[in-house]
Amino acid sequence: MHSPKVNVVFHRGAKEIGGNCIEIESQGIRILLDIGKPLVKEGQSAPDMSGVIQKGSQYDAVFISHAHSDHFGLLAHLDSNTPIYCSQATFDLLAIHYRWREKSRLPVNSFHTFQTEQVVKIRNPNHRAEMEVIPFLVDHSAFDAHGFVVRANGKVLVYSGDFRNHGRKGNIYRRVLSLLDDRPVDLLMMEGTNLGRPAQYVQSEWSVEKRLCTSFQQTAGLIGVTFSMQNVDRFVSVYCAALQSKRKLVIDLYSAVVLEAVSRYTPIPGPTAANIEVWLPANQYVAPAWSTAHLRKKIRPTAQLLDDIRQTPGKYVVLVRDSMMHELRSLRFSVHIYSLWRGYADSPKTESMRHVMQQTGCRWEFIHTSGHATRACILQFLKDVPARNLRIIHSEGVHADYANLLALYSDFAWRGETFSC
Ligand SMILES: [Zn+2]
Repeated sequence: MHSPKVNVVFHRGAKEIGGNCIEIESQGIRILLDIGKPLVKEGQSAPDMSGVIQKGSQYDAVFISHAHSDHFGLLAHLDSNTPIYCSQATFDLLAIHYRWREKSRLPVNSFHTFQTEQVVKIRNPNHRAEMEVIPFLVDHSAFDAHGFVVRANGKVLVYSGDFRNHGRKGNIYRRVLSLLDDRPVDLLMMEGTNLGRPAQYVQSEWSVEKRLCTSFQQTAGLIGVTFSMQNVDRFVSVYCAALQSKRKLVIDLYSAVVLEAVSRYTPIPGPTAANIEVWLPANQYVAPAWSTAHLRKKIRPTAQLLDDIRQTPGKYVVLVRDSMMHELRSLRFSVHIYSLWRGYADSPKTESMRHVMQQTGCRWEFIHTSGHATRACILQFLKDVPARNLRIIHSEGVHADYANLLALYSDFAWRGETFSC
């Protein structure tokens, strides 16, 4: 006899940033929303996963909101036949991640792709009941990120996933309203990453693009930019700034593979565009076989490309990562723009990259905007999607700058909490 209620367990992603893993059970059907690996800083030991998801765990379905590892990184803990649901673009990015980063196959065999706003019905063969999960598109720094509406046993639950409204898709999350049909929401599970950080002005992606353009145009020599190709908004910003300053953008093969995958789903230039150069760093030497013939043709011999860059440094922008520095150290960069979360900039590897570049007099700039909702955006979401119950996840709590939001504090999920409605 199953409980007539809907039960929610916050395995992880509660009072911590990342590692989201939320279990929903109703009428004998058990699903997970995300199965993320908790974020650990370089040098930190792996987090204690005991009592969370046991190796070989079985669920009727696991929904992945987007291809950031703090939302999918523990897939290998599941029984390999567990049905996994994600968008086709997210599936492609997961496949690239496992092949290139983990050097392995996907750890789970049974993938099902959904369309945005498709009603996915999950039935347990032993029960007549069903659960409906409806993905809705959100704006985030990962491509094709989704939140989910879950309908179970007459109850409605909303999971925001990671979202914001200051990127190129803006308030796209508001499409969720049409899925709710004015029905009350019994539980809203919403990300609150920025609630735990000091209050600061958060610029839009357009403002990032403008700052990049200005910096590129004011620099005579070679520019290095550190950014993630999965952050398509950021690629567009860097690409547009390169175009406007009449520079070619130089990317490594792995980034070209990600760009090729993403450009199949959205009208952005692919890696074979005329003003993109592709090169093969030594640590990707086994990789050409994992790319398309188009891309293999596009790879420039490294020595020749570096020569060209040395001769006309003002004509190039190079995507740089710490792993490439031993090959790129012969280049003289005028400016290095760090365009990732500032927290990563203090890692020993990044420090060492910065040190190598500064030895040649390179200037360091930080141009970035958060992939997560601002305080104003969070409040707007709460207004748009009024809910009987709220649990804030993917957050370390409320920073003192948000003292007037302390009333929300009791609504933060805690690890292992079971919520029933
Ligand atoms: Zn994310």
